[in-house]
Amino acid sequence: MNCSEQYPIDQVIYTCQRCGGLLDVHHDLEALRRDITRDRFDQRLGAADLPYRSGVWRYKELIYPTIPDNYIVSRPEGNTNLYYTPQLARWVGVSKLYLKHEGENPTGSFKDRGMTGGVTHARALGIRRVACASTGNTSASLAAYAALGGLEGIVFFQNQQIALGKLAQAVAYGATCIQVEADFDRNLELVREVANKLGIYVLNSINPFRLEGQKSIIIEMLQQLRWQTPDWIVCPGGNLGNSSAFGKALYELYALGLIDRLPRLAIIQAEGANPLYRSYQRGLQSLEPIHAETIATAIKIGNPVNYAKAVRALRWTDGVVEVVSDQEIMDAKALIDRQGIGCEPASACSLAGAQKLVSRGIIRPEERVVGILTGHILKDPEATIHYHDQTLADIRPQFPNPLHPAAPDIEAISQILEQARPQTALA
Ligand SMILES: *Cc1c(COP(=O)(O)O)cnc(C)c1O
Ligand SMILES: [Zn+2]
Repeated sequence: MNCSEQYPIDQVIYTCQRCGGLLDVHHDLEALRRDITRDRFDQRLGAADLPYRSGVWRYKELIYPTIPDNYIVSRPEGNTNLYYTPQLARWVGVSKLYLKHEGENPTGSFKDRGMTGGVTHARALGIRRVACASTGNTSASLAAYAALGGLEGIVFFQNQQIALGKLAQAVAYGATCIQVEADFDRNLELVREVANKLGIYVLNSINPFRLEGQKSIIIEMLQQLRWQTPDWIVCPGGNLGNSSAFGKALYELYALGLIDRLPRLAIIQAEGANPLYRSYQRGLQSLEPIHAETIATAIKIGNPVNYAKAVRALRWTDGVVEVVSDQEIMDAKALIDRQGIGCEPASACSLAGAQKLVSRGIIRPEERVVGILTGHILKDPEATIHYHDQTLADIRPQFPNPLHPAAPDIEAISQILEQARPQTALA
């Protein structure tokens, strides 16, 4: 992406050999312009079979045009709901708010959209072993897609603070799980070195084929909006793979004429894991890695690999970066949960961040906002339960729904039901 050096698609390589920069999958947009129309993608909606039944491979020309269909490893993923949420819109302070729920993917996070791209490419390369370091969801996804594609999956994770649902998935889907006493950032360095030594293919988001799959979040969302571009797209930022993929998707769709203007991207970080935000405040000149701490474990990342691509996405879309506290994240999550929709903590950055950007006058009340919910509510049951029983350190829940212990006695239970009326969180 920096020096425009080109490498063939079948070379196993993660960074540029000339300048050390990140790699992009480069599409021939001139050639694609003849092939791709909104109608063509719309005709594939409701397809009964792969590849077009997948919400990733429906847009195959923009993901991996030359891959033979029989290589594709797909559950299939995507086809996630875009919820129209007027009550949350009022809370945020905008006229229209939609939440695209990427937790509705097969393993419960958007990582499946990238993993179908990455594992498919690994198979095309004839690779047998794939590995990643992860805060949890990438491991769950890699484990599932490796199993489905007949590859050996290997995952590295921090031995503490991985959300239970994610760990359970990686173990159950049969990946080789390496518990390392180090944080995510160190684990990622380790996996790259070990993979290099042993000839294992790395499927972290440094892998550009994953980001190609994740572009489909944006393409599918725009198709659901009948190609009417919203004013803002708001998403959490950890390793910044998703933000990078969003920027590339928007750039390509605009270049191809599928959309006629660009929405603005808002990347939301947790206060304790905010290296992009700090850089943003200094004019995006450089990244200084930090030690990350936040209850939103999916974005507990201090040295985001895709920083340079995220900066590019911010420049392409006139984007902004905001931070929210763990308190704000958990309260916003409670509101999303309370709608009957639900998400894991990191996802709630989208709602908390949108609200903050409205209160600061950056998002205007008449604008249309799409928030991305990145992971499923069941990924991190402990965070949810401890929010509601009010035992999270340093968090005073604004919207708790405490349990009511009761004796097995009709009178006692009736009395509780007379007194305890659930509070309506939102008018
Ligand atoms: C991976 C993940 C993120 C962070 O995405 P990046 O691409 O690393 O910025 C946010 N939320 C959830 C649920 C995730 O799994
Ligand atoms: Zn280069």
